[in-house]
Amino acid sequence: MKKFIHTLLAVSIIFSACKKVECEAAILPITSDGCTDSTASNYDPLATVDDGSCIFQADKKVIIIGAGVAGLAAAKKLEEEGVSYQILEATDKLGGRIQKDETFADFPIDLGAEWIHEDKSILNYLINQPGNEPDVETILYQPMNVNEVVGNNISQISNQDMIDYYADYITEYKFKNTTWYDFINENFAQQVKQNIIYNSKVTTIDYSQDQVVLTTEDGIIYEADKVILTVSVGVLKSNAITFNPSLPAEKITALEDVEFFPGFKLFMKFSDQFYPDVITSENEEKTYYNVAYGKESQDNVLCLLSHGPSTEDYYLLGNTDAIVNSAIQELDGYFNGLASQNYLGSYIYEDWGQQTYTQGTWTSDFQAASDDLSASLNDKVYFAGETYNSHGIWPVDGFYIIRGSVQSAILSGYEIAEEILN
Ligand SMILES: Cc1cc2nc3c(=O)[nH]c(=O)nc-3n(C[C@H](O)[C@H](O)[C@H](O)COP(=O)(O)OP(=O)(O)OC[C@H]3O[C@@H](n4cnc5c(N)ncnc54)[C@H](O)[C@@H]3O)c2cc1C
Repeated sequence: MKKFIHTLLAVSIIFSACKKVECEAAILPITSDGCTDSTASNYDPLATVDDGSCIFQADKKVIIIGAGVAGLAAAKKLEEEGVSYQILEATDKLGGRIQKDETFADFPIDLGAEWIHEDKSILNYLINQPGNEPDVETILYQPMNVNEVVGNNISQISNQDMIDYYADYITEYKFKNTTWYDFINENFAQQVKQNIIYNSKVTTIDYSQDQVVLTTEDGIIYEADKVILTVSVGVLKSNAITFNPSLPAEKITALEDVEFFPGFKLFMKFSDQFYPDVITSENEEKTYYNVAYGKESQDNVLCLLSHGPSTEDYYLLGNTDAIVNSAIQELDGYFNGLASQNYLGSYIYEDWGQQTYTQGTWTSDFQAASDDLSASLNDKVYFAGETYNSHGIWPVDGFYIIRGSVQSAILSGYEIAEEILN
């Protein structure tokens, strides 16, 4: 029972000299191989020449690194306040750990965040709109058909245990016909996406001077008064970004202390629903759940959500087909071969643990972030994202802002933008 509860919850720098200076093309960013980049056409700073290097001059006061929900929320706030900002996003899409697929089934599927870990009215709270009924249809998520695996045995959790659980725990919802991505796109991205530069992986952050200087993988250099860094702690721990000066020792220790586990979602399609709504596992790290629960769907989609150190055991299998086979075999063991008999041969495997720009799933506790973790670098580089929730276990305006959740990421984006504005 406790396991079920847990699973649901979880549910350097120096300017690279350009080889060729073309700063007369003053509206274009600068690359190491030619000093201009015509692909980033929506950015129009003034370029200047400095000792033969092109430096991307700051007419943007704030640069946000990452177009996940924390970055988008910070941007929305700055946009509303008329502050000049730019978002640098490493990938070719917005949303970060909030993504969707619309082709696999007859309903859209959340590839990353899926549950609303609170009352549905938090949706209005997050977009600063009054009222308890969000402008989007949701499903109260309280499945009763829940099985628990202990050793090799699977058994049903009693209705009474489930009722007791739902009575004790925060209410959870899902979107009915839409996804977290749709919510974020409509309420955040639409207002700020003109300021996103995609395929811009920041590799160095130099905060040693008045202006913060950022360099991207392709050698483009940006300057800003303030930087909001929203990459996951997994990315920070992987040292994908070099800081000058180096990160303070306390910050490094605080980052090391944050649990940020690998994980994946494996969606499989079946011809029949032979499985219950949820199958929880003994080690708390593996859950099968009926993705179509409460949706208007004719499709039978079961997801294996693996989160935690034991995900590595799946990685050891070597490839995705082997992971799928192992899941089907396990289900066959519980349901007398019905998984193989009903498997339609199609799946989606979304591996967040091995994605370069995520390097994990979510931060796994209810604690508030420590001061060392959240502290800015010289009041120039600020940290925002799901890990940096400042509220801890106490509700804010009646809502739990658990770390590792979408609401935690949104509120941290707002908070940091406000801190900068103040
Ligand atoms: C499988 C899974 C299931 C989840 N389920 C839920 C759930 O049900 N409910 C819930 O509330 N939460 C859930 N979460 C957590 C939720 O998705 C996250 O807390 C939230 O989306 C984090 O947002 P963020 O903006 O802090 O970080 P991210 O979404 O990671 O955004 C960071 C952005 O920075 C970009 N980036 C990274 N490195 C660089 C770089 N060097 N330069 C430029 N850009 C860079 C990334 O590409 C990304 O777009 C889940 C997460 C996962 C992975």
